[in-house]
Amino acid sequence: MITRNKIKDLLADRNFGKQVTVMGWVRTFRNNRFVALSDGSCIQTIQVVLDYENLPDILLKRITTGACISANGTLVESVGKGQSVEINAENIDIIGDSDPEKFPLQPKKHSLEFLREIAHLRFRTNTFNAVFKIRHALAFAVHSFFNERGFVYMHTPIVTASDAEGAGEMFKVTTIDFDNIPRTDDGEVDFRDDFFGKAANLTVSGQLEAELGAMALGEVYTFGPTFRAENSNTTRHLAEFWMIEPEVAFADLEDNMNLAEALLKYVIKYALNNCPEELQFLKSRLLEEEKNKPLAERSELDLLEKLEFCLNNEFERLTYTEAIDILKASKPNQKKQFKYIIEGWGADLQSEHERFLVEKHFKKPVILTDYPKEIKSFYMRQNEDGKTVRAMDILFPGIGEIIGGSQREERLDYLTKRMEEMNIPQEELYWYIDLRKFGTAPHAGFGLGFERLVLFVTGMTNIRDVIPFPRFPKNAEF
Ligand code: ATP
Ligand code: MN
Repeated sequence: MITRNKIKDLLADRNFGKQVTVMGWVRTFRNNRFVALSDGSCIQTIQVVLDYENLPDILLKRITTGACISANGTLVESVGKGQSVEINAENIDIIGDSDPEKFPLQPKKHSLEFLREIAHLRFRTNTFNAVFKIRHALAFAVHSFFNERGFVYMHTPIVTASDAEGAGEMFKVTTIDFDNIPRTDDGEVDFRDDFFGKAANLTVSGQLEAELGAMALGEVYTFGPTFRAENSNTTRHLAEFWMIEPEVAFADLEDNMNLAEALLKYVIKYALNNCPEELQFLKSRLLEEEKNKPLAERSELDLLEKLEFCLNNEFERLTYTEAIDILKASKPNQKKQFKYIIEGWGADLQSEHERFLVEKHFKKPVILTDYPKEIKSFYMRQNEDGKTVRAMDILFPGIGEIIGGSQREERLDYLTKRMEEMNIPQEELYWYIDLRKFGTAPHAGFGLGFERLVLFVTGMTNIRDVIPFPRFPKNAEF
C-alpha cells in the first residue's frame, strides 16, 4: 500500500509539525534547495525545502523538472511569500527520473499550439489542469441535473447502420479487406459479407434512438461520443466530440427551450461553485492574453463576470424571421462586411451572423426558433405556415451555436411526406416511423455539444484545447 498526503489538503492544513509524505512531479528546483512540487490535486504547487548539505549530490542532480519524487518531512508554516505552508524534507526518493535535456515542458510559458503537439504531457500544466478539472465538473453536473429531474441516462449505439441526417459526413465501420473488396454484379461494394451485413457508420447523433427511449421511459438523455467526418478545420469543430441529448415525451418547443436554458444555467453555476480556483486561474490567464490585443478587441466582461451574466439574464428568444430582419438591417450587412450577405428570408445563418446577434446586437445568449424547413432536418415538427419548423438553436457569445434542437414531428403523415420530399429512405428507418404508428405523442429534445460548453466556461478559444486528445482532419495522434 502506498500512503501519501495530497497537496491540496496540505495547503489547507495548519497542523504544523506533523509528519507528511507527498508524491508528485517537480515543476522547478531552485538553489539546490527549493522544490516546487505538483501532484495534480490542485493548481498550486507545494514548496519542499531540502536539507541539501546532507543529501548526496547524485540524488540532487536527479531532481529535475518533470521528475517524479516522493518527499517525507515536517509540515511547517512558510516564511516565504506566496505560500502558507511548506515541507521541511527529511527524506527524498526519486520515483521516476526525467532527462532535463529531453523533457519538453520547461518552466516557462508555452504556446497552446506547442502544447497541443505534446498533448500527452500538457496535463501537467496549470492551464490544462484547470481545463480538465472544469470539464470533469461540467460532466458531473450534467448527470446531476438530469438525475435530479428523473431523467434516465440512456446509452445509444456508437455503431449505426442508419445514415439519419442524410449527409455524407460519416465515418465508415467495416472489416472488409481493402485488398479484396467484394463487389455486387453492378460493381458496387457488397456489404452483405461485411461484419454487420450492411454498411455501418459511427454515429453522428443518438437522437433517433433517444426518441425511442423517451416514448416509453418519458424522459431520457444521452451523453456520449459522436463523430462527424466533416472536413471543417475550425476552432469549434472536432471529428470526435461528446454530445448531451435529452429527449422528452409530452413536451413542446417552449418546454424544450426552458429545459435547455435551465441545464446551461445549472452546469455553469455548478462550475462557479465547485471550481473557483480553476476559474480564477483561467480568468487571469485570459486577461493576460488579452493584454496583447487592441482595446477594441478585448472582452467587456472577464471570465467570471461573463458566466455570472449568463446566469442572471434570461436568454433572448426570437424567431428566425425576426433575426433575419435584424440582420438585414444591420450595419455589417448594409456595409457588406459580412462574408455572406443576408439577401432575404431563407438564408442559412453563418457563424458570423450568429455571433453578430449574440455579441453585438443582444449582448446575451440568444435562442432562435422556427427556422425554414429547407435548412433543417426531416424530423422537426412542421408549423402551420407550411414554411417553418419548430426548431431552436441556442447561440452563445464567443461560440455561436451551442445547442441545436426541436420539437419532433409526431404526425405519421407529415413525417413520411417530409421524408419522401427529402429522399430519406423509409425502409431503413421503419423503427423510427413505427413510433408514430404505435401510440405517438408530442415530444422534443436537443443536442448540446459538450466541448462547446467547456469552451465557453473555461474561456479557451480553440475546441482542440478542451478535450484531452482532439481528433480533427489529419490528426489522430495519441
Ligand atoms: P454547426 O453548424 O456549428 O456545425 P450543427 O448544426 O452541425 O453545428 P448539430 O448537428 O445540431 O450541429 O449538433 C448539435 C450540437 O453539437 C451543436 O449545437 C454543437 O454544439 C455540437 N457540434 C456539432 N458539430 C460539432 C463538431 N464537429 N464538433 C464539436 N461540436 C459539434
Ligand atoms: Mn456541423
